[in-house]
Formats: sequence, structure tokens, C-alpha cells
Amino acid sequence: MKTLIVHAHPEPESLNSALKDLAVSTLENAGHQVRVSDLYAMGWKAVADAADYGPAASHPLRLAQDSGRAFDAGTLTPDVRAEQEKLLWADTLILQFPLWWYTMPAILKGWVDRVFTYHFAYGVGEHSDTRYGDRFGEGTLAGRRALLSVTAGGPESHYAARGINGPMDDLLFPIHHGVLYHPGMDVLPPFVLYSTDRMTAEDYPDVAKAWEQRLLTLDTTEPIPFRPQNAGDYEIPSLHLKEGLEPAGRTGFGLHVRG
Ligand code: FAD
Repeated sequence: MKTLIVHAHPEPESLNSALKDLAVSTLENAGHQVRVSDLYAMGWKAVADAADYGPAASHPLRLAQDSGRAFDAGTLTPDVRAEQEKLLWADTLILQFPLWWYTMPAILKGWVDRVFTYHFAYGVGEHSDTRYGDRFGEGTLAGRRALLSVTAGGPESHYAARGINGPMDDLLFPIHHGVLYHPGMDVLPPFVLYSTDRMTAEDYPDVAKAWEQRLLTLDTTEPIPFRPQNAGDYEIPSLHLKEGLEPAGRTGFGLHVRG
């Protein structure tokens, strides 16, 4: 296995950094290759803007088109090209981050915004009256697996079906489906730690054991069965889920999961 870990925490002695370090040692000890993009340590530029395209930037700026043109011409900035190369090298991607305001830290969102460019992660494949590109199960990153390793300060009950924060699966849907499945990756069920602000050093050995177990079963874990766009589940061209395919009573994001 070749794993890319993208790590988003500013403190090297944090819980998140400990989980990242444990992932590196566990996977390497099991004979796998690992590369790490430690975004804070790299000083990752988190905003997509005209500076990414230099004098070639269009006026007014058209981020999607400019990013696709630069991707095609091989003129994306070296930091973005390096991350795209790592994604193509890897067969497994792990995003390690604390839940901040229900989602990923801005620096990691900025990594997605800048690295997942037009013609690389979207705008790929045939676009016509009958086909809306290669995405949601197809695309540049198809055949790769992705896993979120997330720490949340709040307790698990707050993220249950009737919990005040909403279900964790719903909060993570934009990342799982919109960021990872969209360019083709198979998305594994997330590794989520709750109540982490109340965690003590005594809790850590159990947490570490659970994380090691997930890491050592990455290649045999069944992905979340999101519905592929181009396999008959959706009406063309509206891309509405066909009537009757949803399990009884299923609504919301869960509609896009089979079974
Ligand atoms: P740390 O603070 O580094 O560690 C947490 C505890 O784990 C420590 O007290 C320590 O006892 C233990 N620990 C850490 N490292 C080790 C180690 N190596 N060995 C043993 N024990 C260790 N939470 C939510 O639920 N929802 C939100 O929407 C949300 N939004 C937030 C927004 C912001 C801007 C911030 C700053 C926090 C937010 N939080 C939220 C809380 C946040 O999710 C947690 O603070 C975070 O997940 C904890 O992870 P950490 O790596 O920062 O932990």
C-alpha cells in the first residue's frame, strides 16, 4: 500500500499529530510506503487566488478555468503540482484533522481548493446531453481509497441521529461525497474520536489500539456504498435519484448511499 497522509493541526504535540505519527509508524512497520503532507509545517498557502496563476491569470479572475488551463499546460504552482503528484502516487489517502466548526480546518479546505483543480479532480470525461462527466465513482482518482481520521471535542451523543449537532455522517457528507467520491475515490467509513477535549493520557492507549486496528485493515474495509453517477441510479440529465430506489423512509444525504 502507498499511503498519503494529509495532516492539518498546528501543534506537533497535539492528539492529531500523535495520531498522524502513529499512522506513519504503524503503516511503515507493516511494510507500506507512507508520505505525509503536514500542512502547517509546510506553511501551506490556504487560499486560492490570482497569485496561483501569475501573469497568466485572467481578468476578471476565473478560478476554475484558470486552474484547468494551468493544469493542462503544466504551469500550476510547484506546491500544487507536488500534491497532485502525491495523490497520483498513493493508493490510499488519509486526511487527519480536528473537527472545527463542524468541518475541516481552513488550511485543509485550502489544500482541497488549490490541489483539486479543474481537469484534475473535476471537469473530467465526456460532458454531453447524456453524460455529465466522469465523477462520483469515476474520475482521475478512481481506484484509490480515502479515509477521514477526525477528532471531535463534543461527545458522541451530540452527533447521533437525534443529536443537537446532527449526525456525524451528515456533517462529513460534503467531504466524503463532494470532495473524495467526486473525483472517484472509494471512501471508507471514518475513524472518529469523540469527547477529545476531555481525553486524558490514560485514555490514549485504547484510542491508539483502535486506530492501529483501522490502519491495519485499510485494504479490506468495505467502502461506504455511495451510488455511482453513471451506473443507472440517476435520471439523465437531471441526475435525480430514480423513484423507488431509496430504502423506505430514507431522506437527505442518505439517499445517495445504496442499501
Ligand atoms: P489536543 O488538545 O492536542 O488533545 C486533547 C487531549 O488529548 C489532551 O488534553 C490530552 O489529554 C490528550 N492527548 C493529546 N495528545 C496525546 C498523546 N500523544 N498521548 C496521550 N494523550 C494525548 N468540537 C466539536 O465537536 N465540534 C466543532 O464544531 C468544533 N469546532 C471547533 C472549532 C475550533 C476553532 C476549535 C479550536 C475547536 C473546535 N472543536 C469542535 C473542538 C476540537 O474538535 C477539539 O479541540 C479537537 O478535536 C481536539 O484535537 P487536538 O488534536 O487539538 O487535541
